[in-house]
Amino acid sequence: MFERQHASVSQSEVTNPFVMVQQQIDAICERIKVSETCRLRLRECERELTVHFPVKMDDGTVKVFTGYRVQHNDSRGPAKGGIRYHPDVTLDDTRTLAALMTLKAAVVNIPYGGAKGAVACDPKTLSQDELEKLTRRYASEISLLIGPEKDIPAPHVGTNPQVMAWIMDTYSMNKGYSVLGVVTGKPMELGGSRGRFEATGRGCMICAQLAGKHLGISLKEATVVVQGFGNVGATAAKLLAKEGSRIIAVSDSRGGIYNPDGLAVESVLRHKRETGSVVDFKDAENITNAELLGLKCDILIPAAIENQIHEGNAASVKAKIIVEGANGPTTTEAAKILRDNGVFVVPDILANAGGVVVSYFEWVQGLQSFFWTEDEVNHQLQAVMDNAFREVLEMSQRGKTDMRDGAYMLAIKRIADTMEARGIFP
Ligand code: NAD
Repeated sequence: MFERQHASVSQSEVTNPFVMVQQQIDAICERIKVSETCRLRLRECERELTVHFPVKMDDGTVKVFTGYRVQHNDSRGPAKGGIRYHPDVTLDDTRTLAALMTLKAAVVNIPYGGAKGAVACDPKTLSQDELEKLTRRYASEISLLIGPEKDIPAPHVGTNPQVMAWIMDTYSMNKGYSVLGVVTGKPMELGGSRGRFEATGRGCMICAQLAGKHLGISLKEATVVVQGFGNVGATAAKLLAKEGSRIIAVSDSRGGIYNPDGLAVESVLRHKRETGSVVDFKDAENITNAELLGLKCDILIPAAIENQIHEGNAASVKAKIIVEGANGPTTTEAAKILRDNGVFVVPDILANAGGVVVSYFEWVQGLQSFFWTEDEVNHQLQAVMDNAFREVLEMSQRGKTDMRDGAYMLAIKRIADTMEARGIFP
């Protein structure tokens, strides 16, 4: 009765990230005894739109681009998720990220489902005019799905507040009035939220603080290592330094820097702005990203890209706490090694959820046309993260497991409870 009607995956089953997410969902559903109906519904995406659309380029030629919008599950509220512009995007990656958004929103208990969008393009090679035309046409194509009550995009890799402004304007032009709530991550003058830029890094700082409290490590005495010195990593480093922590190493794609006495984060930021990298900072020695991950420290924040802690280096990690600022920085094999070695890992779907929480606040402010101060935003973010961390910890303790499984168990239970209560239409 509940059989899958068709296979929804196209890449090799072994390497396909969506198959891996489906396997994780299956395993957690089995563990917490979620009904077969919910399991089968959760392992698929509810809606998937593929679009091929033309854009007139500056040289007069026409190019046809491919884009996607995928809604994984909207049982708990409108679907929410970023839009990526990158040459290598695939439908399966988009499905994977949409599913993770459903779980992330459920972990922090905000009333959203999960979605993701993408256009296969290299935004660095497009003129501003081409980027605007591509964005407006893509927004029109996916306007079947998006809307403040249905599905709310946000920036992700390769997109930014300006791209969100064009999507908001395109959608509004078709409606005949301004619709602030159709996207988040908008520029401030267009209904963006205060505190949004720092939200993900702030969420990481809060998780580090709560994990430290749980293990008896005060941020005032903690040593911190951060991989990736972009929006998330640099903000987390800045806020942790403010709390009194010693930031002993940071890195970016060109390499890392190390000073056991602590780095002056603001000066490192200035150095990066001036030279394009943290490397060769005057008050530190250069190290490699591999060396950085093995440094002795209290808190390690991988905030760069995925799969940085893997089977080959997980055993050399000496941090007591890992706060996963990036999406998927730890492979499945590495997660097992870290668990066996007693490293306390705050998983990505909790650790980097600060961004989607403040996106939710932006949506709420837009719907009400009533805007909050930065203090109000930060205060509400702290409350949401405090609650989520406590609930994940309790779930992991009850299930005698780690925080990663605890987060998945909490999220899937919440979504399954909603699906059960709603039933199946018709
Ligand atoms: P960003 O582009 O601002 O910064 C990324 C940083 O990582 C840069 O300093 C870059 O040089 C560095 N980097 C890239 N490859 C590296 C490598 N191999 N080794 C070391 N450093 C490397 O991006 P961001 O917005 O800070 O996002 C970082 C991660 O956090 C991504 O995985 C992203 O998906 C995730 N994330 C971001 C947000 C957000 O609100 N920005 C929200 C949730 C998750």
